[in-house]
Amino acid sequence: MAERDAAGAGEIEAERGSDSPDSDSDSENGGASGESEMDFLRHLLSRTLGLGSEKPEKVLDELTLDGVSRFMQSEKCRNVVCIVGAGISTSAGIPDFRSPGTGLYANLQSYNLPYPEAIFEINYFKQHPEPFFALARELYPGQFKPTVCHYFIRLLKEKGLLLRCYTQNIDTLERVAGLDQEDLVEAHGTFFTSHCLGSSCKKQYTLDWMKEKIFSTVTPKCDKCQSLVKPDIVFFGESLPPRFFTLMQSDFQKVDLLLIMGTSLQVQPFASLVSRVPTNTPRLLINKEKTGQSDPFMSLMGLSTGMDFDSEKAYRDVAWLGECDEGCTALAELLGWKNELEELVKKEHSAIDAKSGQAGEAGRSPSPPPAGATASPSPPPAKPGSSPQKESDAGSKAE
Ligand SMILES: [Zn+2]
Repeated sequence: MAERDAAGAGEIEAERGSDSPDSDSDSENGGASGESEMDFLRHLLSRTLGLGSEKPEKVLDELTLDGVSRFMQSEKCRNVVCIVGAGISTSAGIPDFRSPGTGLYANLQSYNLPYPEAIFEINYFKQHPEPFFALARELYPGQFKPTVCHYFIRLLKEKGLLLRCYTQNIDTLERVAGLDQEDLVEAHGTFFTSHCLGSSCKKQYTLDWMKEKIFSTVTPKCDKCQSLVKPDIVFFGESLPPRFFTLMQSDFQKVDLLLIMGTSLQVQPFASLVSRVPTNTPRLLINKEKTGQSDPFMSLMGLSTGMDFDSEKAYRDVAWLGECDEGCTALAELLGWKNELEELVKKEHSAIDAKSGQAGEAGRSPSPPPAGATASPSPPPAKPGSSPQKESDAGSKAE
């Protein structure tokens, strides 16, 4: 049990297609989203093929964390975009599904699934919602405390530097840390809200409502039309939120610094965001290992726009390897924000503790998530050994 409780939900790892939205659940967004997705692909292609006319120019005085911090304190850096994944939530007790020993799929035998990924597939869910909700109950976190890294992003906002935070996580820790919906693109959805699946109803429900259903072991049904109600996380077979495609258009033209934290950049189209920034925008990776680098074959062809930390042509990419919290602390120190960051973390964490103290004990879920918090029981799955079949239909649907 204990280990299951620990297995939270961080990052959806599905390969996601970027085709037109599902006619089933997203038909109302069809036109606009379809167009922006086309533009997304066109843009990606043109960058990949080196069709842009910009000449690489070194903006950082050196390719180090110091270089980045000096840039951030200069006039030139006004808009920071963060791209974050499961790695920023692991220190909050939400394991990255790729980590050995925390594999979600190892826990699924008891649900009689035709195959493990089915639990997060929209079509299976519509027919058999029970396994998903059983898993959600099992993984529902007692308490969620945002990490130092989450509060670092909050500081970026307070300093007027945050243009947007694109997250793959559904744990809503960004919201708990004080980012507003406007600051966020929750690319793989969120547990914060739920919706009725009835195509003519679509009534919205709150996290509290959903949590109550989950813990009373009643399959959530709409008060109004009796259809199934689903948390707003993106299942396999569903499109990414239209907001992802629309905001991306403008954000990635304005970005002065891209800050990539705690993600292995393996999920499309999220991963290709790194290639969407202007040619001279510096990119800082804070992660346990280097990632997003050029594919050697593509580089050979002169085609890749992946990260380049080490080659003699490297001119804008910096990797800081280690835990996200430590990387953020190191950067905060260079920026002269360290005390402020520590104070913020201390203050916010005591507030969360105080709240959960009041709530007292409550069975399996001793402390309700703090205001605005949301638990994220089950993140759609990790690139589950990526069955080839999945890969092949990834082009048509989020999956
Ligand atoms: Zn309904």
